[in-house]
Amino acid sequence: MEAIAHNLQLVHDQIRSVCKKTGRNPSGIRLIAVSKTKPAKLVKEAYEAGHLDIGESYVQELLAKQDSEELSGLPIHWHFIGHLQSNKVKDVVGRVSLIHGIDKTGTARELSKRALAKNVTADYLVEVNTSGESSKFGLSPDALLSEAPLFFELPNIRLRGLMTIASPDRQKARMEFRMLSELLDKLKNISPDPSLLCELSMGMSQDYDIAIEEGATMIRIGTAIFGSRQR
Ligand SMILES: *Cc1c(COP(=O)(O)O)cnc(C)c1O
Repeated sequence: MEAIAHNLQLVHDQIRSVCKKTGRNPSGIRLIAVSKTKPAKLVKEAYEAGHLDIGESYVQELLAKQDSEELSGLPIHWHFIGHLQSNKVKDVVGRVSLIHGIDKTGTARELSKRALAKNVTADYLVEVNTSGESSKFGLSPDALLSEAPLFFELPNIRLRGLMTIASPDRQKARMEFRMLSELLDKLKNISPDPSLLCELSMGMSQDYDIAIEEGATMIRIGTAIFGSRQR
């Protein structure tokens, strides 16, 4: 078996075992294979192993892989998981199935404007800074709740849930994941369409077991599938 296929299988086994322990259904967890800095050839390996959800963090790299000889035209569900600057929004609209890292109302406005112009609907998540670390992107929990009405009312974009990157410390990570899950419940209470708000994108190679225990619906796994990275 190819290395990538094998790694994917190990992660799926782990997801199943955590689900069994916590009484969750594995079908409620989408595994996003994060291929940033890795060549298109490896993404193709994941695709050929039956894996369709791919995450990228850098706009130029995403576009290059989508247009690469290996991957162009394949029915891959691309996830943009990096920090999205307003001036890059136009490059990803209509090219990804979900944008995970919107952290400003200004970026959401730009997304709405570009989606409207292209006559598409863009699904996105808002990134929340649950750890409070100043080095991390994301809205504070308070800002999220006070700015939520604007996120709800912008045309041609749909807020589908929340995303966070947790602290390296596993105990802290658990509290941060729990906070994200509670925030999603609060958002549902004030949303005009709570059924749209169903995604919790949380958990990476080091902490996805905890994230699943705390209710993750999407986990973003790079290293455990594609190996370690230089950057
Ligand atoms: C790189 C990255 C991941 C994957 O991290 P690993 O630790 O390699 O699994 C997940 N989420 C985001 C936002 C990332 O930038």
